[in-house]
Amino acid sequence: MSEGTSEGATGRVAIVTGAARGIGARIAMRLAADGFAVAALDVEAAACEHTVSQIEAAGGRALAVSADVADEASVAAAYERVVAGLGAPTVLVNNAGITRDAMAHKMAVDDFDAVLGVHVRGAFLMSRALRPHVAAAGWGRVVNISSTSALGNAGQANYSAAKAGVQGLTKTLALEFGRLGATVNAVAPGFIVTDMTAATAQRLGLSFEEFQTAAAAQIAVGRVGQPDDIAAAVAYFASEGAGFVSGQVLYVAGGPVA
Ligand code: NAP
Repeated sequence: MSEGTSEGATGRVAIVTGAARGIGARIAMRLAADGFAVAALDVEAAACEHTVSQIEAAGGRALAVSADVADEASVAAAYERVVAGLGAPTVLVNNAGITRDAMAHKMAVDDFDAVLGVHVRGAFLMSRALRPHVAAAGWGRVVNISSTSALGNAGQANYSAAKAGVQGLTKTLALEFGRLGATVNAVAPGFIVTDMTAATAQRLGLSFEEFQTAAAAQIAVGRVGQPDDIAAAVAYFASEGAGFVSGQVLYVAGGPVA
């Protein structure tokens, strides 16, 4: 069991989706360091073993759980495993994500639906399943991962619509969960170094280093982001002290975004 540095976090259970790698893995580790028991959820539970073992090595408590967040039955089964393995969850970080980039006129309908499915339907299903646990506890935190792409990005009609949808979902759930003692917020990252941005570089025919250098030149603080930059923002929204902050979208992009 973690020693827990965050006031009130010890004993609380958090679910982080897409926790096998990238941003989700670092969010899971950060929340565990802050005293939450963490369910690291991804398509394949086995892919989360690295995240879980790192949390346990640091003295925290974690469980690897498999689920497709876009599938209602899969989400219900995952919640059952979390409750049985760690206890009732009251924190949810909707981080799981995919990209299927193409210009809109070349985009396959299946690729549009798949991206909306994981980001919007997934965040909806996971949040809806959390609600009874939040109601029972009289406390909760939902943090949705949006993106600067919500503001528009050529080649990402599906992803930008999904990430804008996540922001609308955030504000609506903030209204609906508020009386339960819960807050719902979104973190909208800019360029973060993960497999997702590495894949984008590859698609553009650039080395990942070239891609990062070009991106950093456009960012006010002069560098690209790391997963821990996002984990820090999520940790704030999940904290006890953020209880009067709800329905907000925090851009974490190294500078202002248009
Ligand atoms: P990543 O490295 O590709 O990791 C995403 C994780 O989500 C993967 O482990 C993936 O599993 C999992 N996942 C995908 N579909 C899922 C599903 N249906 N159910 C459960 N898990 C699923 O991506 P990342 O860069 O860390 O991105 C994390 C989040 O931040 C995403 O929501 C992304 O849109 C957002 N974001 C990222 C950036 C960036 O610059 N990297 C910027 C803005 C926003 P598989 O490996 O099995 O697919």
